[in-house]
Amino acid sequence: MLEDVATTNATATTRDARGAGARTTLDGLRALDAAWAKMRRGDATATATATAAFAKRREGASDARGETYDVAVAGGTLGVLVAAALQRRGARVVVVERGELRGREQEWNVSREELERLVRVGAITTEDADACTRIEFNPIRCGFHGGGNGNGNAGDLVTRDILNTGVSPAALVEACRKRFEEAGGAVLERASLRGVEVYDDCAVLDVDGAPVRARLVLDCMGFQSPIVRQSETIENRTACASSSEVAPRRTRSTTRRRI
Ligand SMILES: Cc1cc2nc3c(=O)[nH]c(=O)nc-3n(C[C@H](O)[C@H](O)[C@H](O)COP(=O)(O)OP(=O)(O)OC[C@H]3O[C@@H](n4cnc5c(N)ncnc54)[C@H](O)[C@@H]3O)c2cc1C
Repeated sequence: MLEDVATTNATATTRDARGAGARTTLDGLRALDAAWAKMRRGDATATATATAAFAKRREGASDARGETYDVAVAGGTLGVLVAAALQRRGARVVVVERGELRGREQEWNVSREELERLVRVGAITTEDADACTRIEFNPIRCGFHGGGNGNGNAGDLVTRDILNTGVSPAALVEACRKRFEEAGGAVLERASLRGVEVYDDCAVLDVDGAPVRARLVLDCMGFQSPIVRQSETIENRTACASSSEVAPRRTRSTTRRRI
């Protein structure tokens, strides 16, 4: 089916940021399709085993040198929103993103109230929210195949103020990143997290071979996160634990677990 799409796909020429739902190009869809096929074949467990040692518990104090951040956010695109909010509460935060830290070109649909929440937690300002808003529309009519609304009632469902705002992820992430960095936040871009060792005094992230120390690691690496995969194998859930914790962030595609 994807090959059929290839002949007509207008988005195949757009840049793919690879994060935050950015997989809008044909290559991105192919990668998702391959991942889905792998899951259906039951290969997911094999992958989990392969990444089992991503986060490890170590005894004693770390001898890694350098500044200790309060929080290291792994996975930048949506992670920078979390990072900025924590920074506003006084935390010293570093973001580690293996690709470019930017939002996708294709709009996100969001309710204005959800956007306001990002303002309330300090990730963006009201001016940023207004500037990244490309369109607002009301009402939205939800039609159902066969004419029913799923509850046995016929007819369409009409909603107001729900997912009725189109925002530019590129503008949103850029504005958030700018404020984050201006306030002293650190961004390590095109830098891959390769593993985490949790000591008694801090966690040490292996970022392309260089150590980064943090008191808390937040996993914003998405549904293919190696930390989530590790936590999905029962025998590895206890592999690292806590004076410093490694916590997958809850997104639409992952559930929050502590390992
Ligand atoms: C305001 C708002 C509106 C939204 N509206 C929509 C919408 O209309 N439609 C929609 O589909 N979604 C929407 N979303 C959802 C958003 O696109 C998804 O929540 C997001 O894509 C989550 O995907 P993911 O968890 O798979 O993370 P991903 O998108 O996969 O991001 C994971 C990030 O981690 C990085 N990463 C991975 N591994 C490593 C590593 N080892 N080291 C360093 N970095 C790494 C990746 O490069 C990537 O940037 C919206 C989100 C927001 C905040």
